[in-house]
Amino acid sequence: MTDILEIPILKTAHSRLSEVDFDNLQFGKVMSDHMLIAEYENGEWENARIVPYGELGLLPAISALHYGQAIFEGMKAYRMENGEVAIFRPQANFDRFNLSAERMCMPAVPADIFMGGLEQLIKLDSAWAPTGAGNSLYIRPFMFATDAFVGIRPSERYTFIIFTCPVNSYYAAPLRVKVETHYTRAAQGGTGFAKCAGNYAGALLPTKLANAEGYQQILWTDAETHTHLEESGTMNIMLVKEGKLITPKTADTVLKGITRDSIITLAKSWGIPVEERTITLTELVEGIQQGTITEAFGAGTAAVVAPIATIGYEGTDYHLPEVSTWTVAPKIKEALNAIRIGTAPDTFDWMVTV
Ligand SMILES: *Cc1c(COP(=O)(O)O)cnc(C)c1O
Repeated sequence: MTDILEIPILKTAHSRLSEVDFDNLQFGKVMSDHMLIAEYENGEWENARIVPYGELGLLPAISALHYGQAIFEGMKAYRMENGEVAIFRPQANFDRFNLSAERMCMPAVPADIFMGGLEQLIKLDSAWAPTGAGNSLYIRPFMFATDAFVGIRPSERYTFIIFTCPVNSYYAAPLRVKVETHYTRAAQGGTGFAKCAGNYAGALLPTKLANAEGYQQILWTDAETHTHLEESGTMNIMLVKEGKLITPKTADTVLKGITRDSIITLAKSWGIPVEERTITLTELVEGIQQGTITEAFGAGTAAVVAPIATIGYEGTDYHLPEVSTWTVAPKIKEALNAIRIGTAPDTFDWMVTV
């Protein structure tokens, strides 16, 4: 891939691979045998190594636990039809990781550790990449502050880790989502564009309340007026209106999804008009009522494309047409999957074979 760094590998003496029931994987529960780990101290990254997945010894005072300097990424590697394993757009996740790091006042992770280490880790645990349509190896890079110091200031020490987990294709019935007009996920000038831990903690209570009302997810709206759409959970939101693909533009309140970007690229390549712009709740509700909005879905690494059946707004449920009548979202999902397993040409150079 990029620079070559010699990363020492300590192999596990007891692989857990044979104990795993690959037909019944629960997302995020089973971790592969190894992890990559590196530490930042005295202004530099050091001691990058691959070791068996296991516990970390940490002091109670480490600042990530108190003040939340912690960021993560999520991406996937796929078992290709020819048996090889390839990672989907890792450079984009690497770039976004360092953007999150900058916002949280954390040091950038260099390419030789992130990209080089990633490649070696996936190679070592490639047997964990499951076969089967839509199945994949989920990859979780993350970094957190480790200064054992009570006081708010940027930490001087950090730990960077990548571990992986085999996951099944994520099938869920079309979603019921609730438009949130009280709670806020992100405000202008805030941290919404960063994949930082605190953003997700803050979303738990509003999501739990929406769950109690019978919705699986929240559709976030802008902090200032709660009149236009932003995104949903860990997915960007996309609509099909009069044959066009429309989605909120990303600024500092919306996470710049790599799935979102990939879908926009695909749609444009097929000649589907794409609009990245403000989508008001009025436009959403009227479009569903008048039948001009025909599809709505979430886009993100975990579910890839998650169809939305119902949108609840101020006590009323608005229903999208039956998913069986949709034309755009299913085509996108199929095309993305085909590129990922190598049954369609990788026109945009998205796959990195390890
Ligand atoms: C990760 C994430 C997404 C989706 O990004 P992908 O790169 O497509 O996985 C969207 N919104 C939020 C808030 C996220 O954390």
